[in-house]
Amino acid sequence: MKNAIFKDGKISIIEIKKPSLNSKGAIIKVLGCGLCGSDLVKIKHKKENIILGHEVVGIIEEINSETLLKKGDRVALGHHYPCFSCNYCKNGSYSMCKTFKNSNIFPGGFSEYIRVDENHLKYTVYKMNDRLEDDEAAFLEPLSCCIRAIERAGFSYEKDNSNYCALTIGLGSIGLLMLKGLRAFGVNAFGFDISKERSELAEKEGFNFEENKKYDVVFLTAGSSNAIQTALKYVIDGGKIIVFSSVEDDFKGFANNEIYYRELSIIASYSPGVKDIELSCRLLNNGDVKVKNLSTKYKLKDLQKAVDDSFENKVFKAYIEI
Ligand SMILES: [Zn+2]
Ligand SMILES: [Zn+2]
Repeated sequence: MKNAIFKDGKISIIEIKKPSLNSKGAIIKVLGCGLCGSDLVKIKHKKENIILGHEVVGIIEEINSETLLKKGDRVALGHHYPCFSCNYCKNGSYSMCKTFKNSNIFPGGFSEYIRVDENHLKYTVYKMNDRLEDDEAAFLEPLSCCIRAIERAGFSYEKDNSNYCALTIGLGSIGLLMLKGLRAFGVNAFGFDISKERSELAEKEGFNFEENKKYDVVFLTAGSSNAIQTALKYVIDGGKIIVFSSVEDDFKGFANNEIYYRELSIIASYSPGVKDIELSCRLLNNGDVKVKNLSTKYKLKDLQKAVDDSFENKVFKAYIEI
């Protein structure tokens, strides 16, 4: 079967053996896989021997499992699950758990088939509503990352959050998804980007920016250290800044005294917990978060082009049809 690898600074499509099922789990025939910002960061830093692609949508082809999932189900999935028993897990820091970091799909989402294990099936694989297109279903994992960030900001889906205003800085696909997630939580959501084009796209979806306003929470999805100053400018005293992306210049950080005297909370959110994937599935399946027409489709053989176009900001979100 075909599988994409990253070697010697470029992506190649190679032939490898189709994964087989020798214990509990499933083989999934991949329909497509979203290209994540984290894939792009790995490629940019020329990390080799990495698993590329995790925003998978596919059909269960073979299954041996105690779960209710069955052959023929169209599913989307997350790629990591925690152990639920270590101290990180007990503190809710699931993405710091060793099991979480070591669990993954095999051999990566840009493949014709992947193997998932029984814990994936139990905790991270969800059947998606037929109404959703494949590229929409592939937003399950990215939306779940946003949901965790929104919850770490102190919002609960079950509560009334309508008294709060949040600003998302950086309106790429993940920033727009954050805004949609915030809206589904009932938070008043505003968006800012230095790019006029991206700001206008968000405005079309009803997410504006008010220059003279301060915000209870600021989400940083920009991947730029300059955005830190913007966050400090617009957050209220006593407010929260949620760090949701890596930046180029790691040493341009937050000013100690500003954090202290203004009593700001700087909170990071990295990857989703299993409950977040479940809620993400609910919001996509019931239409509370709509992601229609956000992706540009590429064939697997054109993955390198999808990567190049993403680096050049020619596309909003790339989705690879397998
Ligand atoms: Zn992702
Ligand atoms: Zn753990």
